[in-house]
Amino acid sequence: MNQFVVRVQYTWYQFIFRLISMKKVIITPGCIACGACEFVAPEVFEVTDLSRVKPGADIAANEAAIIEAVNGCPVGVIRYGEEVGDEHVD
Ligand code: SF4
Repeated sequence: MNQFVVRVQYTWYQFIFRLISMKKVIITPGCIACGACEFVAPEVFEVTDLSRVKPGADIAANEAAIIEAVNGCPVGVIRYGEEVGDEHVD
């Protein structure tokens, strides 16, 4: 019984830790809709009038392509990291 309780607590702790440490992708204002990010990471970005991160995009599985998109954005508006929104990006 005690082993079960410990395992449940560990799983709960792991879930919260993963949620907190999840990397995020955001598009800050200034996108010129060039389409470069969608070209290199079509699983993550969708460009219409502006670039958007696709709902439910698998960020972890596409990390390399996201970094390429960040580095290739001509106006530098793609932010990627664990603490995007707190002005701290990896
Ligand atoms: S690469 Fe940058 S400017 Fe071009 S569509 Fe993507 S976010 Fe917008």
